[in-house]
Amino acid sequence: TSTLFSAIEMAPRDPILGITEAFNADTNPAKVNLGVGVYYDDNGKVPLLECVQRAEAHLIATVTPRTYLPIDGLVAYDKAVQELVFGADSNVIAQKRAITAQAIGGTGALKLGADFLKRFAPDSQVYISDPSWENHRALFESAGFVVNNYPYYDAVTHGVNFAGMLDSLKSMPAGSIVLLHACCHNPTGADLTADQWTQVIEVITTRGLIPFLDMAYQGFGAGIEEDGKVVRRFADAGGPLFVSNSFSKSFSLYGERVGALSIVSADAAESARVLSQLKRVIRTNYSNPPTHGGKVVATVLSTPELRALWESELAAMRVRIKANREQLVDLLKQKAPGHDFDFVKQQCGMFSYSGLTKDQVDQLRNNNSIYAIDTGRICVAALNFSNIGRVVDAICQVL
Ligand code: PLP
Repeated sequence: TSTLFSAIEMAPRDPILGITEAFNADTNPAKVNLGVGVYYDDNGKVPLLECVQRAEAHLIATVTPRTYLPIDGLVAYDKAVQELVFGADSNVIAQKRAITAQAIGGTGALKLGADFLKRFAPDSQVYISDPSWENHRALFESAGFVVNNYPYYDAVTHGVNFAGMLDSLKSMPAGSIVLLHACCHNPTGADLTADQWTQVIEVITTRGLIPFLDMAYQGFGAGIEEDGKVVRRFADAGGPLFVSNSFSKSFSLYGERVGALSIVSADAAESARVLSQLKRVIRTNYSNPPTHGGKVVATVLSTPELRALWESELAAMRVRIKANREQLVDLLKQKAPGHDFDFVKQQCGMFSYSGLTKDQVDQLRNNNSIYAIDTGRICVAALNFSNIGRVVDAICQVL
């Protein structure tokens, strides 16, 4: 007999979780997982930041009842995050043109923005980079949008196909939603230069496109301020502007699900109406966000010593990733002098499109228990002193 469930097909497996499953099942003690999407420290562990531990100790010492947070989240959190994202001296903050709502991680922020846009720009289509974070397409499609790609990665130069990207922006209908990675492009590691951003902002503004900046790695590129610059430049251009940001990586708080959605509009009155509608989106989805992660981040950002500690811990992660890139390139240069991997040093953030083909990735997995994504994406932070030599030797074998 046929029931509600009998005709349901199995959904496709998540490609990245599939790699983790295969990795976990591998009995080779020297296995290496470069397919991960999280920051690993030099011991191959996800760090628990000292600033987070101290904030948590403080929160435990000052016991509070577990009331509901406001629909748009903890007030102190929203304020601190807004200042972090736009800069404390930002005009859009002074003019009350920005609203910020706590969200359930960066993903939750993107979904809030997508649901909001579906209500108020229902006929727009969405454009994401080719390639992009693998959840962008599905997320906007699940909010009811048609999702298209704009050219982004150039496999020949291992950089950005900027001419192709700009041409595509110039041909999008007014009102199109353009999703951009504010820094540390996932998966490629290839970012735009400041000059290229100028041109992108110009085209987006003059053509009346709606920019949606996804900033999941603030502080992993050039620095907290430097990485936030792109957001500030878009905000200065006037809006409308959507910004999703995440503390999963920068605070190593993955499972606490801390992020935020900010929206910039033309004036304070518009912002008040926007916030009221965004609250409806939140209320009908999950009512209000959880407390713990928001309190931890708000405590760290607004306590000077903890904030300084966070900035130094984040800098240490950023510096280590850069050092890993340099070591990887230098070792490959020594052992495979005919191959040029210098582009890996130019890339930003946790990931690298290494240039390895699917066939080479398969060989690394089958012969050496080294796991990467089929596209050649590796997590640079997953390299460490005890595995990098093995990884380089294995790569040399498949080149
Ligand atoms: N956006 C990008 C570009 C990402 O890489 C990620 C996480 O990997 C996210 C959003 C989602 O962040 P979160 O884990 O905070 O939901």
